[in-house]
This record gives sequence, C-alpha cells and structure tokens, in this order.
Amino acid sequence: MQLLTYEIDGQSRLGARSGSFVYDLNVLNPDIPSDMLSFLAGGSSMMNAARSILNAGQGGIDIETIRMLAPISNPEKVICIGLNYADHAEESGMAVPSEPVVFSKFASSIIGPTDAIEAPSSSEKLDYESELVVVIGKQGRNIPENHAMEHVAGYTVGQDVSARDYQLEKPAGQWILGKTFDTFAPLGPHIVTRDEIPDPHELGIRCMLNGETVQDSNTKQLIFKVDTLIAYLSHVFTLRPGDLIFTGTPPGVGMGRKPQLWLKPGDLVVCEIDGIGRIENLVV
Ligand code: MN
Repeated sequence: MQLLTYEIDGQSRLGARSGSFVYDLNVLNPDIPSDMLSFLAGGSSMMNAARSILNAGQGGIDIETIRMLAPISNPEKVICIGLNYADHAEESGMAVPSEPVVFSKFASSIIGPTDAIEAPSSSEKLDYESELVVVIGKQGRNIPENHAMEHVAGYTVGQDVSARDYQLEKPAGQWILGKTFDTFAPLGPHIVTRDEIPDPHELGIRCMLNGETVQDSNTKQLIFKVDTLIAYLSHVFTLRPGDLIFTGTPPGVGMGRKPQLWLKPGDLVVCEIDGIGRIENLVV
C-alpha cells in the first residue's frame, strides 16, 4: 500500500494511492484521522481500514488534481545514520565505523517530493545524499533485533542534503547544523508499507543530478541493516510511530568526487529507490 499526504483546496489530507487514483482515507472513513502521524499511531487497525478502502475502490480522485506533500512533516524524531555504506566511508576519507554513526535533523528541514531546496547563502559546499528512509509504525524501547521489523510501518525516499563546510570545516564540526537547514530533508513521494518490501536490503538506489547519474548502488551494501539500527537506537531512546530513520547514503556524493561537485541554484536533484519511488527537488 502507498500512503501519502497531499494538498487539495489548500488543505492537507491523508491518502492511499492505487494506480492513478488517490483515496482520501478520512473522507471515506471518518474513523481514520486526516494526518499521517495519527494514522500511524493507530497501528494495524488503521492499516486494515485503509486497505478496505483501496479494496472497495470507490471514491478515488485523479492523482493529477492533487499536490503531493511530505508524507510526514511532524515526526518526533528524524534520526540519520552516517557512513553506512563501506565505499561511501572510503570516499569520505573515514574509517568504516564499528558501530552506527548517529546524528539528526529537525522536522523543520522536511519538504515535499517536488519542493525546492534552498541553498544557504553561508555555504559554498552544498551536497546531495540519496537515502532509504525507514518509517516507524510501532512504539518500542530495547527492541530485540529479531522483533525489530515489526516496528517498521514502511519505507520512503529521502535526501540528506548536506552543507559540507558546516558539517566538517567549522570548529569542532557542526554535523547537525550542516544537515538541518530548512529544506534539507526532501521526503516522499509516499510511504510504501512494509508488506510490499519483503527485503529492504536488496533495493537499487540512485541519485541523478541534472539528468546525470551520480549515485548508483543497492541497499544490500548497507553496513548496519534496518533491524540492527532499530535495536541499536531503541536501546537509547523510545522509537515512536512516525519517527524517521535516514539509513545513510551510497558513494558518489559531490564531496568524494575529483574535482568536487557542489549543488548550485538551478540544479535538479532526483533521488530514486526501486519499488518505493522518486523525489525531484530543484535547488534555488
Ligand atoms: Mn546521510
């Protein structure tokens, strides 16, 4: 099932998609909330209610008439994993980590699948990172690895836009600042539920910059897999429905190129994961 948040007549709505039709879940069943976070908090009963609407196939609207928003704009946490592809660690000049490298973005950095990335005037080293994003669907703390996948609602595509000069060149490094300027977390276009992705570790993942493929890898290259990350993170804090885990980016980022390649206004960045979808964001 593809779950999305969209705008119509100036209102944000929760939908499920089938082909070229979008079903407004709250209109078609008032027991379903109209926002993704509340929907996910409702767990499997809400998922089943949404599936019933798709199975009935009545009341859909043409997807061309809506504007897609970020599937979730207000998670409690946006957790990011750094250096989680061995060859990306190498191109970054860093050792392959022995434990996950964790940082975060704020929810204020989230934008929709076709929204514009604002290049900060204070950065000259703006970079792209295409990433598989895990969406948590069930609350948990100290989740054992063999039960971790039960806490996954689904997956979406994210871009971990990065100002490398902030991240790496400021005194002491400023990972959070360099990663969380407003608009630095393009997300979407929808959440594909876990049942449709039997193995999240065999998905082609790419990034295209102005039509040229700059990242082309597969999630089988992930060093720390989704279940390991959920167990590792939930040992420290409670994971809640709607929390996002950006799982890291494959090689090919601008920082690792010779010569280095930085984003500039007018660039179009497309991030794509097989079986999930693609997002297209213009830099302004
Ligand atoms: Mn990243």
